[in-house]
Amino acid sequence: MTPDVIVVGAGYAGCVTARILADVGRKVLILERRNHIGGNAFDYLDENGVMRHEYGPHIFHTNSKKAVDFLSQFTDWYPYEHRVLGSIEEKLVPIPFNLKSIELLFSNEKADHLKEVLISVYGMNTKVPILELRKNDDPQIQELAEYIFEHVFKYYTMKQWGYSAEEIDPAVTARVPVLVSYDDRYFQDQYQMMPLEGFTRMFENMLDHENITVQLGTEAMDHLRIDPENGAVYFNDNLFENPVIYTGLVDQLLNYVNGDLPYRSLEFDVQTKDGQFQPVTTVNYPGPAEEYPYTRITEYKNMQKEPPVDKTTIAVEYPYIYDRNGEKGNVPYYPVFTDDSKQKYSAYVKLLENVPNVYLLGRLAEYKYYNMDAIVDAAIEFSHQLLEKE
Ligand SMILES: Cc1cc2nc3c(=O)[nH]c(=O)nc-3n(C[C@H](O)[C@H](O)[C@H](O)COP(=O)(O)OP(=O)(O)OC[C@H]3O[C@@H](n4cnc5c(N)ncnc54)[C@H](O)[C@@H]3O)c2cc1C
Repeated sequence: MTPDVIVVGAGYAGCVTARILADVGRKVLILERRNHIGGNAFDYLDENGVMRHEYGPHIFHTNSKKAVDFLSQFTDWYPYEHRVLGSIEEKLVPIPFNLKSIELLFSNEKADHLKEVLISVYGMNTKVPILELRKNDDPQIQELAEYIFEHVFKYYTMKQWGYSAEEIDPAVTARVPVLVSYDDRYFQDQYQMMPLEGFTRMFENMLDHENITVQLGTEAMDHLRIDPENGAVYFNDNLFENPVIYTGLVDQLLNYVNGDLPYRSLEFDVQTKDGQFQPVTTVNYPGPAEEYPYTRITEYKNMQKEPPVDKTTIAVEYPYIYDRNGEKGNVPYYPVFTDDSKQKYSAYVKLLENVPNVYLLGRLAEYKYYNMDAIVDAAIEFSHQLLEKE
């Protein structure tokens, strides 16, 4: 039977859209190349009884009631506030860098002075992007800004992105501001919580619908063919005129005709340890690559509601240049925004202008960093627009 809609990818973008369309009677076929649903938010209980996040730690935080209400149809939640420490000068200090971090790293007298200056310039409970702090003319703030830049951002950014903080989009470093406060939570959003039985269970419930069929282990491009010149889409060699919602890589969709879009990839060295490994879920290692070739270590059980006691699972995270054919670094994680990559992406979108039934949605297809809540909101919005159009 011909589906009403084909969705490529069973991550947030694909699953949320599939569910909304299925709820109003559309027969949806989801093609997913991996052997599991959930996209990069996939999690599962490992041999240590730890809820492991296969593609890096995922923490749900948002100010969007719309996203919470939508997802709450498919899961209950438990409260979880994420805390990150940075290993700086052999001490563990709060990240984002805050007033407590200053106290831990400077003498009492110096710390009191620096805090006073910061509060008088920016006010208490404010967030200041590091690049903005560095632009301040006050010599004391400059000195502090240089210290924070050197110890928190400089090498970390280089390791994570392969570019210096000045070279990449300022939005990237602005994601981790300096906090003029004692709030040591990584996020300050209104809702901070985790799905009671994990993200994967939430996705299972979302897709449990008579109008949704999921084909796992299915590379969509083995079944779909796009002919941009004639504005046509073929599914298993038959012309397909219903909507195709594509949440995968746009360069792959168009056979890499404009070249590969650059991504940053990651590799996780997963290890079993006894007891407890570190005091919080994530410890960052912002020192130079020669000292710490990895960026952070995550201890997954620290975000679990009922964690196992005697064993623990940690993941040491190493950034890589993405190479789709490589033995390592072959998962595209973060788009790398440069003028060149933005132009390349626009050229791909232009090619698709002539194919009205293909829609690009999600972090890969839109070549954009989305948090989980943001892609839920975007998928809800997209689905309603699609339904209005019909
Ligand atoms: C390391 C890391 C940590 C993160 N942590 C957080 C966090 O703490 N909090 C937060 O809110 N967000 C976090 N995010 C962001 C979160 O992962 C994204 O918001 C979310 O994955 C976006 O969903 P998506 O559906 O767009 O993409 P994905 O989750 O990537 O889903 C796309 C799916 O499409 C499939 N697919 C692609 N191409 C094809 C094809 N050709 N054929 C078949 N299937 C295909 C893929 O296999 C994948 O399953 C993190 C991201 C990363 C990289």
